[in-house]
Amino acid sequence: MQTIYENFIQAAETMQAKPLFERPGEPSISYTQTRELVERLAAVLGEVGVAPGDRIAVQVEKSPEAIALYLATLQVGAIFLPLNTAYTGAEIDYFIGDAAPRLFVCDPGTFAAHAHRAGPTLAVETLGASADGTLIERARGVTPREDAHPSGPDDRAAILYTSGTTGRSKGAVLTHRNLASNTEALLDCWRFTAEDRLIHALPIFHTHGLFVAANMSLTAGATMIFLTKFDAEQAIDLMADASVLMGVPTFYTRLLKSDRLSRETTAGMRLFVSGSAPLLAEDHRAFQDRTGQAILERYGMTETCMIASNPYDGARIPGAVGMALPGISVRVTDRETGAALADEEIGLIEVKGPNVFEGYWNMPEKTASEFRKDGYFITGDLGQIGKDGYLRIVGRDKDLVISGGYNVYPKEVEEAIDALPGVLESAVIGLPHSDLGEGVTAVVVPRSGVVLDPQQITAALADRLARFKQPKRVFMVESLPRNVMGKVQKAELRRLFADTYA
Ligand code: ATP
Ligand code: MG
Repeated sequence: MQTIYENFIQAAETMQAKPLFERPGEPSISYTQTRELVERLAAVLGEVGVAPGDRIAVQVEKSPEAIALYLATLQVGAIFLPLNTAYTGAEIDYFIGDAAPRLFVCDPGTFAAHAHRAGPTLAVETLGASADGTLIERARGVTPREDAHPSGPDDRAAILYTSGTTGRSKGAVLTHRNLASNTEALLDCWRFTAEDRLIHALPIFHTHGLFVAANMSLTAGATMIFLTKFDAEQAIDLMADASVLMGVPTFYTRLLKSDRLSRETTAGMRLFVSGSAPLLAEDHRAFQDRTGQAILERYGMTETCMIASNPYDGARIPGAVGMALPGISVRVTDRETGAALADEEIGLIEVKGPNVFEGYWNMPEKTASEFRKDGYFITGDLGQIGKDGYLRIVGRDKDLVISGGYNVYPKEVEEAIDALPGVLESAVIGLPHSDLGEGVTAVVVPRSGVVLDPQQITAALADRLARFKQPKRVFMVESLPRNVMGKVQKAELRRLFADTYA
């Protein structure tokens, strides 16, 4: 099996002067230019003292140079550890303490705040968004390193911290096999080739932007239109000259707000992918009505890269995440007993395959408890496999509400609420309740300009849901708290409304 680095070198040899990166208003960067930078950075990493197996923690703005640093890390056999740009001092302390990197790379603008970290075991260098910083300066003066450390498929390639939606972020240790096998499966599944021009507007410290979007592009020999943030109008302008968009659900919500989204403006695009959080079935349908294109929703997580995808050919079903990717097995098990469940039954989603990570960094007990004896990884998501063979995600196990001894799946209640007139979206959570254990609670966002009364919602649900599923309290809010990947922060909602039934 070839590693991602080897895939890139192979693509670079074929693609040469073809752009790997294009950026509006800035010169594009070819495969050959990227390769030269990668090889220079690899030489710099050697100078800094990075050895195979060392971690390189990176908290930098999105740039082609940051992708080059990722590839250089793989070239020298070190472990890439990207960090969310939103993390601040105390959070960085935790990640550096936990991962014990040999090198920390930060933005030139934050160097002053991090300089104190430098010591005999940790070097601190900088990399800026405009091809600046100490790494780039040093790269200019070195002889490029052409040979690569001979990494095997089971050697570690990256530690990626989870998004921290359900608790403290965990470091998922990913091997070269994890990354390369998943890239191969996705290229095949989505028919992604060198002909593709990808609108890349995702952050690159997350699995979606780095291990799906970038790995696929640089393996296929495709071109990325590399944007530092997502702007719906700009994306629509770019669609005339692009072929694929990979986005989180909020990209699609925002595109739908533009009256320029139409069959004509999207005519050149062959594929719209959504993932990282549930895509509203309503947005899926609205997008298809407006553009004639069905968004392809897929499911994955930091620990496993991508697991399942709606088909390229065949029905892309709203509210479903499709079938397991080639080479990957998915099953649904009882959350109490762990026994495999029949079709349609709701339980824990478990996954096994070459995509599944090695384990959590520094967390042997946690790792052991998340794996079954037969090697399946317990994702922590609840779902069901329909008679049609499609996997549907019902929510996270940690978000399941148990009220009066009954399981209440938030998604079912949310869908009933979202279907009511005047409702934009909702989040259903369980809050401590002395009598019921947990009280079903709805947090509802009305459509703009609409005033909704909580009692209207409660009354409208009375004949739509069994009594135990009906929210005991309904709160109106202007918007739901989301992180940069568009994930609703239910833990924050639980904190906010914690005393509701106290
Ligand atoms: P943490 O594990 O730290 O709580 P996180 O699970 O949000 O954070 P990620 O690995 O970024 O961290 O996210 C993976 C999760 O995102 C999945 O377990 C699943 O809950 C959710 N997810 C991803 N794709 C989809 C999808 N298409 N539909 C619904 N949920 C999805
Ligand atoms: Mg998770």
